Amino acid sequence: MKILCVCGARPNFMKIAPIVDAFSKAGIDRAIVHTGQHYSPEMSRNFFDQLEIPKPDVNLEAGPGSHAFQTAEIIRRFEPVVIDQKPDAVLVVGDVNSTIACGLTAVKLGIKLIHVEAGLRSFDKAMPEEINRILTDSISDMLFVSEPSGIENLRREGRPEEAVFLAGNVMIDTLFKRLSKAGNSDILKRLGLKEKEFLTLTLHRPENVDSRESLLKAAELIERASEQLKIVLPLHPRTKRAFKQAGLEERITGIENLVICPPLNYIDFLRLLSTNACALTDSGGVQEETTALGIPCITLRKNTERPITITEGTNTLTGLNPEKAASQIKKLSENNFKAEGRCPKLWDGKAAERIAAEVIKTLA
Ligand code: UDP
Repeated sequence: MKILCVCGARPNFMKIAPIVDAFSKAGIDRAIVHTGQHYSPEMSRNFFDQLEIPKPDVNLEAGPGSHAFQTAEIIRRFEPVVIDQKPDAVLVVGDVNSTIACGLTAVKLGIKLIHVEAGLRSFDKAMPEEINRILTDSISDMLFVSEPSGIENLRREGRPEEAVFLAGNVMIDTLFKRLSKAGNSDILKRLGLKEKEFLTLTLHRPENVDSRESLLKAAELIERASEQLKIVLPLHPRTKRAFKQAGLEERITGIENLVICPPLNYIDFLRLLSTNACALTDSGGVQEETTALGIPCITLRKNTERPITITEGTNTLTGLNPEKAASQIKKLSENNFKAEGRCPKLWDGKAAERIAAEVIKTLA
C-alpha cells in the first residue's frame, strides 16, 4: 500500500511527523509531499529538522499568493505527481490551502482521500480555514477526528458513520514526544524571561491582522496586557507585514514590557508554552497544546472549532477585546494562573498509531 502524505504550512508539520513515523513502523509505503505553502527556514525546514521528519520526496515549491492563486498552483503542480506515483491514497492534515488543493486533486483522479483532523467547525465561513475544512471533509473517504464534536459535525453533514474515526490528536502526539527535549531549551535565558512570569502571544489570523481596525485593537490589547505581565511575541511574518503597512510598527516595538522575536522553532516555542503563566493566541494548535499542558489559554477569537479546549481544557474566548482579555488575565493572576481542566481522552500520544492501524484495516 502506498500513501502520499501531504504537508505545506507550519501547523501541518507537527501533525504529519507522527503519522509518517507510524506509517513507516506499520510497513506502509509512504512518500512525503511538501507543497511549499510555507517555505522559509523558520516556518518550514526547522520543523523537519527538529521533528525528524524525513526530507520530502517531492517539493511542489508552490510558494505564496492569493488564496485562488496558491490553491490553483498547488493543484496544478500536484496532479502530475499523483499520476506518476499512483498511490492507493492521499493523506492530508488540518485546514490550510494545501489540504483542500491536494484533496481535490486526489479525488478527481479517483484516488482515496484520508483527512486527519476532520470534522472541526467554527461555523464561521468568513474564516478561510472553515471553507477548507468543510470542502475537504465532504470529499474524504476516511475522516480521522480529534475530538467528539467532530463526529457530531460530520454526522450532521451526512458523512457515513463507517468513514469517521475518533483517533485522538496527532499534534499532541508530537507535543508529548518532544516535551522533555524542550526542557533543555535555553530560550527563557536568551529572551530574559522567568518561568511563570510572562505571557506568550501569537497572532496571525486574517480576521485579527488584515484590517487597520483590528490591528489597532491588537495594539491596545497588547498594551493593556503588558501592564500586568511581560509578554513574548514570536511574530508571524504576516502580522509583521501588517503592522508595518498599517504604520503601527513603532507603536508595537515601543511597548516596554513586550519582547518581540522571530517565529520560533518548535522546541523553543514548546519551552515557552510549558513555562509561561498563560498563552494569548488566535492559533488553533496553541489552544490544543495549552489544554494538553494544563496551562491557561486566552483565545483572541469570537469562536473556536476546538470546543473541547473550553469544555474540558483550559481555554477561554475573549475575542480581540482589550478589556475582556485584560480582565481574564487579572482573574487568572488572582488564582496564580492555575488552570482548571483535563487532557481530553485519546490525546495520549498514540493517535498516529491508531490512524496507521485503521488505514491498514480499511485499505489493505
Ligand atoms: N509554533 C511554533 N513557533 C512559533 C509559533 C507557533 O513552533 O513561533 C507552533 C505551535 O506550537 C503550534 C503551531 O506552530 O504547534 C501552530 O501553528 P499556527 O499558529 O501557525 O497555525 P494554526 O494552529 O493557527 O493553524
